[in-house]
Amino acid sequence: MLHAEHPFLDTIETSCQSTNLPDCSNINAFQTSELEKLSIAIGSLTYYKSLTERIASSLLLGAGTDDFIFTERAKKLLFCGSSLTLDKSGSIISANFCRLRICPMCQRRRALKTGAEVFRIMDNINSSWVHLVLTVPNCEFHQLSDLLDTMYTASSRLFRYGPIKKAFNGLFRFTEITYNYSADTYHPHFHCLVSVDKSYFTSRKYIKSDTMRRVWTAIITSALNGVDIRRKSDAWIDDIIATLDDDLLFQIHMKKADNSAVSEVAKYCVKPLDIGLSGSALYEPLHNIFYALHGRRLVQTYGVVRDTARLLKIDLNSDAGDEVEENRLDRTNVRCYTWNRKKGCYILLSE
Ligand SMILES: [Zn+2]
Repeated sequence: MLHAEHPFLDTIETSCQSTNLPDCSNINAFQTSELEKLSIAIGSLTYYKSLTERIASSLLLGAGTDDFIFTERAKKLLFCGSSLTLDKSGSIISANFCRLRICPMCQRRRALKTGAEVFRIMDNINSSWVHLVLTVPNCEFHQLSDLLDTMYTASSRLFRYGPIKKAFNGLFRFTEITYNYSADTYHPHFHCLVSVDKSYFTSRKYIKSDTMRRVWTAIITSALNGVDIRRKSDAWIDDIIATLDDDLLFQIHMKKADNSAVSEVAKYCVKPLDIGLSGSALYEPLHNIFYALHGRRLVQTYGVVRDTARLLKIDLNSDAGDEVEENRLDRTNVRCYTWNRKKGCYILLSE
């Protein structure tokens, strides 16, 4: 079931219609039956599969015959999740997912997995949390990749700046790119979840938004001007801060993190239907974002967050799927589905 007019990927989970509705005639069944769970899982997969297919068709249309490599990728996207095996609880046992970063089907599963892993790491750290967003002005496509490189270097230097290093015990840094279709510009930015002492908000370590904004602007503008910021001292940065023009400060957002901050940061690096285009017009921005993100680690961890992730053996950049691990496999009662493109739904092959 396709909700084409809905711009956000995140809000549709509950509105999907299943093609395999559960039997609700048993009013004594208070708990969700296995069949019902399976049908919800298939219903939600159907929605994302339809989205993926629509984006793949747009990309194929836009790529034409010139862009052979990207056309192959779009084909991969088109066939993503076309055959699924689910166990009796509705968990995916095996599937042919494409794992491309611009695929809604794969993004959704990745976001759910990342969110769960972030919560697990946070649960194991006894601290308060700050949600920090670092931005730069929008850029043109040809600047995007270099700008991302500079932002990576600059943010690492920012976290080593004396007062910030003292205040921040560790953090997650997520890369996100949004696209402004009216100006045809790209907006790369970082969402960070920062671990701070529980007493942080009333302590002397507390860093004001304005201070953070000045330090970030000083570091990133110097880096953009070709300065090797990794080798510059805090005193050197302080001198730059003193010369900053108030009107040219870059935007940052910093506030105490609540639960919604986690879902916000863990979601997607790019939201295809959020960029305001459809059909072949989707090709160029998605093609550009795909190449800018290609091969990058989108999640970086520092300090206590990095240590805790290692301890828990969590790799947030892992491309491993969410399929049930081999040793937990229950091969009884598996259901195999195949995607029917004409009907836009999954067909049950066998039980
Ligand atoms: Zn996929």
